[in-house]
Amino acid sequence: MTHAFYRDFSRQGQNRNRRRGRRRGGRSLPLRRARLWLVLIGVAGMLAVLFGAGLSGSQSAKASVPHEEWLEPEIPQPAQQVLREAIRSGDTAITALERLGFTPSEAYRIASASKSVYALRDIRAGHFFKRVDQGKETHLYYTIDDQTRLHMVTHGKDWQAIKEERPSLTRRLYAQGHIEDSLFEAAARAGLDSRTTMNLVDIFAWDIDFARDMRTGDSFRVLYDERYDEEGNLMGTRILAAEFVNQGHRYRAVLYVKKDGSFEYYTPEGKSMRKAYLRAPLKFTRISSRFTLRRKHPVLGFTRAHRGVDYAAPSGTPVRAVGDGRIVFIGWKGGYGRFIQIQHVNRAHSTAYAHLRRFARGLHRGSKVRQGQVIGYVGMSGLATGPHLHFEFRVRGVAVNPLTLKRTPSKPVPADEMARFRQQTAPWLARLEQQLPDVMAVAWE
Ligand SMILES: [Zn+2]
Repeated sequence: MTHAFYRDFSRQGQNRNRRRGRRRGGRSLPLRRARLWLVLIGVAGMLAVLFGAGLSGSQSAKASVPHEEWLEPEIPQPAQQVLREAIRSGDTAITALERLGFTPSEAYRIASASKSVYALRDIRAGHFFKRVDQGKETHLYYTIDDQTRLHMVTHGKDWQAIKEERPSLTRRLYAQGHIEDSLFEAAARAGLDSRTTMNLVDIFAWDIDFARDMRTGDSFRVLYDERYDEEGNLMGTRILAAEFVNQGHRYRAVLYVKKDGSFEYYTPEGKSMRKAYLRAPLKFTRISSRFTLRRKHPVLGFTRAHRGVDYAAPSGTPVRAVGDGRIVFIGWKGGYGRFIQIQHVNRAHSTAYAHLRRFARGLHRGSKVRQGQVIGYVGMSGLATGPHLHFEFRVRGVAVNPLTLKRTPSKPVPADEMARFRQQTAPWLARLEQQLPDVMAVAWE
């Protein structure tokens, strides 16, 4: 777990090398071929050494392949020229193609030849044209979206167009780190892109309060994919399996791609990483007033938004926290009377409970509460005409209707998919368990 630092350096090195190779763009293929040649020559050299040593037992066989030959293999390649042009706002395909060196009439021929595949009048600012000249061939690429691109080619006369999948490279990586200062700094030291870190936070957001519960000595391990486009830009990252140790508590999550192609994170046992909230903070209840966002009427003046749900219940009925969290307010709050606000472990969510008769014993600001824990009792404190609980659910501070709140699926892996789940996730979990060296072989897919 202490190797994160070294890993950081090695990752940077790899990135730098790749970027350098990419920036040369058109020469990446010859470079790759050159590398293949180096490998072949290297293998031949080793065989020569082995056979030489086996036959004669002498050291002289090692010199049978001069090193200079390894360095500059002669591989004839047609020279390639690569030009890239960003679409500017206000551009037409014609103006952008002219900047790539096409004559206006050639640009028109390209635009009309593309029509059957993709209408180049739809080009968008910020996207790119790429022109590759190689021998008598000219290729033209236009990035349509994350997945696809237009590829046009001519051998000097007619243009042909196809729509093709954008080439992408996926690197499978493993990283681990120790929290010393902040999660983000530890993650950056471990070489994680901030997008991967955000994904990590999202996955464990229902179990760990990342703003308050992080401690020095907490640690994480993560197996993830980084996806690059053909120019070497990081397009996205995806976590396959992750572990977080928070205050001695170990949490693990693994990705599962379901039969229908959707995916979700589960514990290794197949339970959802997402936790549901209780449907209501009271066990037996009746809704007496619903959520409405009607604003104060400019003429009539008395229509008010009701940003919560009122549950009518006898005075003294226990009120329960709908999810795990921490009390951020407990006390008297104007018309709300005795009021409790809970910030949930998933910090985007908070709930509020008003008009309480009294609070449960021992609670104070900062207290941790568990789902279902009794936090107070129904009353009519503040502005209330009868005993009821006014309950609010806020997402990033904005009150939402708790009754129509889209409930995130928190179901376990279906029983009939468990075998598939185990088969898919076992290798990733095993990889996470292994204390392998920090720099993992890079898998190009
Ligand atoms: Zn109310």
